[in-house]
Amino acid sequence: MCPTGILEMGNELNMRIAYTPQVKEGKAKYCTACKRCEYGCPDWCIYILNESDNESTAKKAEV
Ligand code: SF4
Repeated sequence: MCPTGILEMGNELNMRIAYTPQVKEGKAKYCTACKRCEYGCPDWCIYILNESDNESTAKKAEV
């Protein structure tokens, strides 16, 4: 479902004994944040976050 083809099957099993998707190495910069993977995941386990949101969260965690 990813229009850029940057997702692949990961090697780790989740608690439902299912393999989870992961971003191919070095390909994260090609993500357009279209959220197709987020809306299409049947287990709602994918979340697209803005990098600046991650940075502010990390800063809060450091305080
Ligand atoms: S948001 Fe998901 S489906 Fe869209 S480009 Fe990024 S990884 Fe692919």
